[in-house]
Amino acid sequence: NRPIPLKVHGTEELKIMITAINTLMNQFERHEAWRNQLMQDLTHELRTPLTAVLSHLDAIIDGIYPLTTEHIQRILVDIERLYRLVEDMEKLSEAEGAQFELNKQEVNLSRLVQNIYEGFLFLSRDKEIQFEFVPSRTPCMLLVDPDRMMQILSNVMYNAIKYTPRGGHIQVGLLHQNGSIYVFCKDTGMGIAAEDLTRVFDRFYRTDKSRSRDSGGLGVGLSIAKALVEAHQGEIWCESKLGEGSTFWIRLPSHPLSILEQNRQSLTA
Ligand code: ADP
Repeated sequence: NRPIPLKVHGTEELKIMITAINTLMNQFERHEAWRNQLMQDLTHELRTPLTAVLSHLDAIIDGIYPLTTEHIQRILVDIERLYRLVEDMEKLSEAEGAQFELNKQEVNLSRLVQNIYEGFLFLSRDKEIQFEFVPSRTPCMLLVDPDRMMQILSNVMYNAIKYTPRGGHIQVGLLHQNGSIYVFCKDTGMGIAAEDLTRVFDRFYRTDKSRSRDSGGLGVGLSIAKALVEAHQGEIWCESKLGEGSTFWIRLPSHPLSILEQNRQSLTA
């Protein structure tokens, strides 16, 4: 993108101006489309729990339901769902919006993955899932934002536990290959159909609405993860077979150590 010239002397500068204005228009249109879609998705997601809360309250007021703890509890479940939705929307708009900054630091990704894995052990034991960590053979030093990495990896590991039935098996690990670091999370869960493999990264997308809803998911975890991985110039994708399990892959470019060294020197200078 060339800067818009301050003074116009001839057709060359006019052409630069037209290109710059077109680029701006395209960015604006993309942003508008993103915003409109977000509003549509959000309205759709808000309507279901709000309608449930309202109809429940109406039924109590009209004397159809008695005012018992059980009925208040049911209303609370929907209000909690609304609350989680608002929280997730905050995270999503932060991750997808342009305003967030990465606070990159030199991080041992293998250790970070292991820490998150250990944090989930309790939950996996609760479901009698065999959860295993496979460390990389070589060090995995990366310049990344550790908090965002934690968010990405937690979303993927949490899903693996959520969508793997009792007694299943999950493996999380790292590979260092051809200038990239790969993190994988392989489960023996319910799996994802081929036509859903890319769509699961769209916000509010759930493969099986009722089943995923039972697990409490809102369908934004993976879209947040995707936005954050892409902000690190990485990629995230999934390989899966319905009914057999899924493997989520995250590829992150690993910088030569000299870049990390330069970064260290500029930080200590
Ligand atoms: P949710 O909050 O619904 O879990 P996500 O964005 O994290 O939202 O995931 C989107 C959808 O992708 C889920 O609702 C589920 O249908 C599917 N999914 C994600 N991870 C897995 C997995 N490990 N196994 C099977 N399905 C998964």
